[in-house]
Amino acid sequence: MITLKSAREVEAIRRSGKITAAVLTELMQKAHAGMATRELDAIAERGIRTRGGVPTFKGYRGFPASICVSINDEVVHGIPGREVLREGDLLSIDIGTTLDDYVSDSAVTVAIGNVSADSQRLLDVTQECLMLGIAAMQRGGHVGDIGAAVQGHAERHGYGIVRELVGHGVGREMHEEPQVPNYGQRGTGAKLRPGLVLAVEPMITQGSQAVQIRKDGWTVVTADGKLAAHFEHTIVVTEQGPRILTLREFGEHPTVEAYRPDAELKAPA
Ligand code: MG
Ligand code: MG
Repeated sequence: MITLKSAREVEAIRRSGKITAAVLTELMQKAHAGMATRELDAIAERGIRTRGGVPTFKGYRGFPASICVSINDEVVHGIPGREVLREGDLLSIDIGTTLDDYVSDSAVTVAIGNVSADSQRLLDVTQECLMLGIAAMQRGGHVGDIGAAVQGHAERHGYGIVRELVGHGVGREMHEEPQVPNYGQRGTGAKLRPGLVLAVEPMITQGSQAVQIRKDGWTVVTADGKLAAHFEHTIVVTEQGPRILTLREFGEHPTVEAYRPDAELKAPA
């Protein structure tokens, strides 16, 4: 069942989203070569809890940490640990906060130091996919409009789109209906109505779209070992257009910097 959120509930998710955005900003600023990923997890847990939130991921279906960290060919759901970041890595950080019973969910992929032009292009295009998907969240439209926008941009660049994992509704639960695939056809799927809150999260691969799960039972990796990137925001559909509830004040992609939480969203040119 799809639940539309009241204005009060959207405000609760927005407050949760402010914590998610602030802590993710801190993680983006602090991630560097030579750092173990569990140090990032410690920063995240402290950052969320000192702001009064609870790390949504910790204990979720037994997940052992407060964030997911996925490096290079790891797509999503990597577990922080002793692994040390290296110059040239692509690091995906996925984070969720629960505040006053409401969840927000966001992710970015960042370059550790200097990365190749190919790696940078994957990052740029994946973030553009997210923004185009968000821009498609217009009232009266359909969930398929989001997937079609993401798919069109990724495929124009020759990239793969992970099919096994999708975006989702967000509210009191991290994963609510509807599912939000990163592929699809315009005009299909559930209707986009004001008060619908979704996590849109393109997972884009440099090579084949096929993925596998590592023996740890969590980490999703590309089957061909090529790079992947993942960006995610929590967004509400309003009468006036989509509003990002996890927008960061700093560190957004250049195509996003012009946007503010209460500004009209337009698709990047
Ligand atoms: Mg997430
Ligand atoms: Mg999500």
